[in-house]
Amino acid sequence: MKYASQNEYEVFAVKVRWLAVLSAPVLVWFYTRSISYGLALGTLILILFNGFTGFYLSRKINTHDYSLLFSLIDAVYLTSIYVYTLPNLGGLPQLYYFLMLIMGIRHGMAKYYWIVLINVLLYVSSTGLGSCYNGLKIDQVILFTNIFFLISFGAMSSYILNRYYEQQLEKEELITELQAAYEQLCVYNIQVEELANTDPLTGLYNYRFFTERLEKEIKASKRYNRSLSLIIIDIDHFKDFNDTYGHPAGDVALKETSNIFKQKVRDKDVLSRYGGEEFLILLPSTGIEEAYKCAERIREAVQQHKIHIDEKHEDVSITISGGVACFPSDASTGEQLLRIADEVLYSAKHKGRNKIYRRL
Ligand code: GH3
Ligand code: MG
Ligand code: MG
Repeated sequence: MKYASQNEYEVFAVKVRWLAVLSAPVLVWFYTRSISYGLALGTLILILFNGFTGFYLSRKINTHDYSLLFSLIDAVYLTSIYVYTLPNLGGLPQLYYFLMLIMGIRHGMAKYYWIVLINVLLYVSSTGLGSCYNGLKIDQVILFTNIFFLISFGAMSSYILNRYYEQQLEKEELITELQAAYEQLCVYNIQVEELANTDPLTGLYNYRFFTERLEKEIKASKRYNRSLSLIIIDIDHFKDFNDTYGHPAGDVALKETSNIFKQKVRDKDVLSRYGGEEFLILLPSTGIEEAYKCAERIREAVQQHKIHIDEKHEDVSITISGGVACFPSDASTGEQLLRIADEVLYSAKHKGRNKIYRRL
């Protein structure tokens, strides 16, 4: 039987032992109004031993490794009190109940039947030897009654402790299942959020996500007095491309162009698909010059890239046009920034395409 923390059980056993160690001499004194030096010394040693094992040792070492030794010490102490009290009190056989409990907690349910047997044997042998030594006659009725009580007490405690242990196990299993379900839910949440923010064809962010980020970046740029640039890109004559090579080839072109964008921007830049064959790139902490150069680099890379259509056609390349605008020099709001960038893109288209424009 494996416990979550074996030391915890040893500490609990120590607490029950306190009860036995302290109540035994008190009972002796209560009935006989006298306590021998031997018993007083034994009690004192056990109290010190209890404090040492329960509150000091269990923090330093795995006290569970010494369970057998502790049980032996407890058995010797309680059996001595039993034999000591045999002439006056008939031996306080209840001490064996305590011993059984302490050992049960310490060694676990699987060994409980052995523990009951050991205690019955201890009780019978100490009664026999103790009575012989003190010249007492053994009362067989009392002897058998006590054996009967010891066995029934043992069986009952075993049943109760076992049930408690099983409930604990069930609880632990439930908690583990709950934790696993919660972790799975967190993973699903992240996946759902990613799906809700992503364009399925290109894997870029979608426009919904972009607008949220745009507002956040505008606020941050205002707060820290930084520039924020926006590049808007539109593929040139894409309708013709689709008409010539087919829609699936158009999809391939969109994906490959998106991959070029991904390679050419920084990690902190926000890349999204505006819709159709239009894209938006948000560049935090970036001025208009830097953004313009970035857009130019992207335009050149797209122009140089060859798209493989099929065996019947030669590889082709496409071109893009772009508009660049910057906050706060060109616009004071996100909406304005998008409008200005769109306007300069329109100029680039007008001036023959395959160009990047900015407001002069
Ligand atoms: P311009 O140079 O003026 O931008 O011309 P254009 O042909 O690119 O512009 P237009 O707006 O007339 O056409 C855009 C085309 O983009 C039309 C549409 O078929 C194509 N398109 C939009 N979304 C997709 C898509 O998801 N896949 C494919 N294959 N084509 C798309
Ligand atoms: Mg367009
Ligand atoms: Mg276009």
